[in-house]
Amino acid sequence: MYILIINAGSSSVKFTLFSKETVEVIAGGLVERIGIRGTTTHYRNNKGNDLSDEARVADTREAVSRIIELLTDPEYGVIQSKRQIAAIGHRVVHGGEKMKFAKLVTEKVKATIQDCYELAPLHNPPNIEGINACEVHLPNIPQVAVFDTAFHNSLPDYAYLYGLPYHLYAEDKIRRYGFHGTSHQYVCQTTAAFINVPLTELKIVSCHLGNGCSITAVNRGQSIDTSMGFTPLEGLIMGTRCGDLDPAIVFYLMKHKKLDPEKVNRLLNKQSGLLGLAGIESSDLRDIISAMAQGNTQAETAIKVFAYRIKKYIGAYTFAMGGVDAIVFTAGIGENSPLIREMACRGLEDLGIVIHPEKNAGREKICREIQDNAGKVKILVVPTDEEKAIALQVIELLATETSEQ
Ligand code: ADP
Repeated sequence: MYILIINAGSSSVKFTLFSKETVEVIAGGLVERIGIRGTTTHYRNNKGNDLSDEARVADTREAVSRIIELLTDPEYGVIQSKRQIAAIGHRVVHGGEKMKFAKLVTEKVKATIQDCYELAPLHNPPNIEGINACEVHLPNIPQVAVFDTAFHNSLPDYAYLYGLPYHLYAEDKIRRYGFHGTSHQYVCQTTAAFINVPLTELKIVSCHLGNGCSITAVNRGQSIDTSMGFTPLEGLIMGTRCGDLDPAIVFYLMKHKKLDPEKVNRLLNKQSGLLGLAGIESSDLRDIISAMAQGNTQAETAIKVFAYRIKKYIGAYTFAMGGVDAIVFTAGIGENSPLIREMACRGLEDLGIVIHPEKNAGREKICREIQDNAGKVKILVVPTDEEKAIALQVIELLATETSEQ
């Protein structure tokens, strides 16, 4: 049997089919530019087929239908019938305060996802469309919602509350939620298995550094603090997001730069971070590193700001947990940039955090340790795999549901 993972966005649907038994990828792809000109479907399977075609797909429902057609296609398909799909796992961004674990989709669960529309206006509505489309095209197959926020539901109140009037939390639910939960949980579990120490005995600082970046303090398997907050804007410097900011800057921009809330929102989310700091019209760290290598000092400063913010959070979370056993780097930058890993850990030798230069320079896309033997803290590079992490949660949930019947 198989597990189908669906990640439905505002104009794309990403899909991956896993074997339920081996959790290996059997096929996957992406339908992008849905509902606009130039809709493209990319598909690849483990038999060596790799295709892309342009054909109009009007909405998420049609996209799911197209995905099933491909998976069951006599020539390119990998399954004979959709009945071979044991369950569908959906990536859902926001589960609010109620969703502490992955959940079988029911009308109640759908209502909770809808209640969080205002908290994730770009993500939760398409996530629901993905679920509805699967109800139509894959009826009677269990659907599971896996929430990006769920892992952070273990945050204590003193970590998730802001210093705002309490009623804004009580009535409007303004609090820190945190994101990238599936990735943080997965890389911490992978770390524990790799170093052969139970997760319940480890204090881990998990650094997810991609276009979006967040750091989480994982104390004995539980997220106890995380850098993203009410929205993914808070915390680290990111590709185009500013991260932590004095809120008074917002009033300054509105008053002196005459920006309305929409423009401020765009500035902070889309024009800031590495893109805004480096000023080379790219948010891609590789381009910024090349600019620095060619003597661009503004690009160099942008990289310093980026790495320093990571170091500050590593320090804060080490103290929040009363120590650290492992620092884990993951996602595009975390997995591929020796420079950022080195800068984030530089000068921490007296705290037992010592990077090994040659191990750090390695390029293998596998879980690996990069600390020097002189350091007591383990430093790891752990490739994240959010689709696989979702599939594992779906399989685990199915097993508990079956054993409870
Ligand atoms: P997303 O958050 O969109 O999933 P990714 O996890 O793919 O993003 O990370 C994208 C980031 O990873 C980009 O800033 C890119 O520059 C960076 N990146 C990828 N490969 C490298 C590399 N070899 N060196 C430095 N940065 C890299």
